[in-house]
Amino acid sequence: MSLADKKWVIGVDLGGTNIVVGVLPIDGGDGEVLGLRSETTEAQRGAKFVVDRITSMIEATRRDVMAAHGGKPDDFAGVGIGSPGPLDRKGGIVINTPNLGWRNFPLRDLVSNAVNLPAVLDNDANCATYGEWWLGVGKNVNTLVGITLGTGIGGGIVLDGEIFHGVSDAAGEIGHTTIEANGRKCKCGNYGCLEAYASGPAIAARAVEGIETGADSMLPELVHGRLEDITAATVYEAVVFGDPYANEVMRETAKFLGAGIANVVNMLNPEMIVIAGGVTKAGDHLFVPLKAEVRRRAFRSALDACQICPATLPGTAGVIGAAAVFKKDTYGVV
Ligand SMILES: [Zn+2]
Repeated sequence: MSLADKKWVIGVDLGGTNIVVGVLPIDGGDGEVLGLRSETTEAQRGAKFVVDRITSMIEATRRDVMAAHGGKPDDFAGVGIGSPGPLDRKGGIVINTPNLGWRNFPLRDLVSNAVNLPAVLDNDANCATYGEWWLGVGKNVNTLVGITLGTGIGGGIVLDGEIFHGVSDAAGEIGHTTIEANGRKCKCGNYGCLEAYASGPAIAARAVEGIETGADSMLPELVHGRLEDITAATVYEAVVFGDPYANEVMRETAKFLGAGIANVVNMLNPEMIVIAGGVTKAGDHLFVPLKAEVRRRAFRSALDACQICPATLPGTAGVIGAAAVFKKDTYGVV
């Protein structure tokens, strides 16, 4: 199959909350995703439901793109799928996802057979990083590391234009690198992981702990006294209102992230670190102390060569990257 015969490639970003599907011109175009659609995952309704939903979204997206741009079913090269892992990429199998409740699930082939197109599977954080590398903030660099801050902390590594997967597809788990040897317990079983300090739920938990031990803050007021309703978003809200305690929580978050990022900078010497996710809405409240912390810890020569910046494809990096993964796997180029 030659690249020149095809016009489009489809990307699927499967998350615990939403499924996003869209189409990219095979050359990437200007980065606009065609026929973009997003629906809830509803994983509790079972794996078959989720696969049927992905399939029908792909079909609908294809129809929309053909109707808007002309073309035929044959113009679509195939489907890239980004999924939470761990995965067996070569087998197209999702080994285990707590969020979806799947074990050893042959996602790639089920989708491929249902839509009658070849498909490729990769980790969602790898796809998001590859998307930023292909058509986002990293499009002019060769080596970058992506960090996605959300319910968890995902990471992806692109070395010389290729995703670095490691020997068993487990590379890039920046969220589960240890930043405190005897630190907080992480969901993965380890103690002191970056994720246990700087994921959305961890930020909220640290904020609540401080309030419960007497910190003075407007946060309880913002949630009408229901401390369990405090989220990372509530913390940024209080930061914007100028709450000194919330600002302290944010500075601490930046410190933890800075320690994790300094490890990455010293280990990989990348040209760019791209940070995505809700926490980046805090803007300078996050990035200024974060960069200061990295500067305090990382090798000067590595840091001077590395930009640390927010992602530029919010909501579509996963789809764009999944499409790029398909293209790379199938044709050897992106
Ligand atoms: Zn962990």
